[in-house]
Amino acid sequence: MQRTSLYIDGKFGAPENRNYFPAVNPATEEPFAEVAAGQAPDIDRAVRAARRAFDSGDWSGLDGRQRADMLRRVAQGIRTRQKEIALLETRDNGKPIPEAEWDVGDAAFCFDYYADLAEEQAGRSPEEVDVGDPRFQARILREPLGVVGAITPWNFPLLMAVWKAAPALAAGCTIVLKPSELCSLSCHLLAEVIDAAGVPPGVFNLITGTGPEAGQALADHPLVDKMAFTGSVTTGRKVMQAASAGIRTVSLELGGKSPFVIFEDCDIDKAVEWILFGIFWNKGEVCSATSRVLVQRGIFERLLDRLRSATEAIEIGSGEAPGVKLGPLVSKGQYDKVLGTIETGKLTAARLVTGGGRPANLDRGYFLNPTIFADVPTDSEIWREEIFGPVLCINAFDTEQQALDLANDSKYGLAAAVMSDDLERCERVAAKLRAGIIWVNCSQPTFTQVPWGGYKMSGIGRELGRAGFDAYFETKQVTRFDHNECWGWYLDAQE
Ligand code: NDP
Repeated sequence: MQRTSLYIDGKFGAPENRNYFPAVNPATEEPFAEVAAGQAPDIDRAVRAARRAFDSGDWSGLDGRQRADMLRRVAQGIRTRQKEIALLETRDNGKPIPEAEWDVGDAAFCFDYYADLAEEQAGRSPEEVDVGDPRFQARILREPLGVVGAITPWNFPLLMAVWKAAPALAAGCTIVLKPSELCSLSCHLLAEVIDAAGVPPGVFNLITGTGPEAGQALADHPLVDKMAFTGSVTTGRKVMQAASAGIRTVSLELGGKSPFVIFEDCDIDKAVEWILFGIFWNKGEVCSATSRVLVQRGIFERLLDRLRSATEAIEIGSGEAPGVKLGPLVSKGQYDKVLGTIETGKLTAARLVTGGGRPANLDRGYFLNPTIFADVPTDSEIWREEIFGPVLCINAFDTEQQALDLANDSKYGLAAAVMSDDLERCERVAAKLRAGIIWVNCSQPTFTQVPWGGYKMSGIGRELGRAGFDAYFETKQVTRFDHNECWGWYLDAQE
């Protein structure tokens, strides 16, 4: 059975405690690899290596064009191993192979994109600022922020790591990555690719291990300058608490309960297609999933009928099997949690339209039928809380204002979507939806070039786009007194 290592200071090796935990294939419930269980001493070695690498200037002091060359080699390395990485991701996480291949392609593109920004940054001169006093000259410089601690989840194991590693490395930072213990294997391949690309020792470090042991030790480490986290609100709060103790910068990408508002002038087939994609791709284990759908009353029952039949036709099975569109949930824990929430939903006044349990033909693996609840009480757990599985809640509305009120009535604000043939209406609604990502006439397409992040309890900060690059810099002013005479506050200016 394959055994993974930690990657610290340019070397692959065993954790100090020599402990490993199994990686389990959620389609078969069988272990298929052993993952190194790093703990606080390993985190400490990794952070110290990242600190040395940063302070030495071997990476941060390079011209952005040199870093860009290296990052493009990483992108190429990912592309060369695309099939292998995608297969491993599917075995570890359960997602269908084509979806894993999208992730790997996006990961490679992300390195290329931030390589371009590193190059562009290198060609820029510092901004000179007129401070209104000719005796002074002021400049604004951008400097890499330092050592980054990245903690990432299991739903897009490679991609969430790359969304942090690519801009951080492009900016000149060094990084210690702690992926989720549930899905660590693609990050191990990422470490191999980065190593093969010739990135200097200590610049990128990988510590696999559990959240409470390795993750918390990273969040607490005094030599880390910034924590970049994606995951649950509960853990995000812990990371933020640790950051507050050390007065460290933090970026948080947390959960969502994103609404999708469908007006009755739209094409029902197009609506059904995007509703399905919005909730069932990646098994609904998506922070931006549009899991609350609001449909204008005039088409509600017709759309629901079409949605039910299309949902029941979704092919469920191992992500490795051709044609499968819905794989198993990531783990027994997540399966039990989602099933438990479905059972809670059944006890409410909501109408169970389809799904609600395990597919009859699959007795092994963490499989669930895609589930739809309609007429859902808006104070129920299934309407208000993130389920993070293939469970959709759908309600009717009458007026635009009512749709907006229902859509915005959430503690979250990661994403929202609107569909109508009337583009003016779409723009009006988009402007009033309180979320960081708005999709018009679609749901979920995600592009590296535009910022990603949420309002309210969905997080702090932005990843991707230029904002995701800027997040890895400090801003420094250099102000020079350029005058022959003495300043003249304590000493006479004429002396
Ligand atoms: P977590 O927030 O616990 O996991 C996210 C990351 O944090 C993982 O790497 C985890 O490690 C790590 N972690 C856990 N505890 C700590 C800690 N004390 N200090 C530092 N890092 C820690 O999410 P769960 O896996 O428990 O999922 C629970 C729910 O969170 C899901 O059902 C979903 O609702 C939401 N979620 C949201 C995500 C998003 O993209 N916004 C992604 C994942 C989950 P490890 O996995 O090894 O414990």
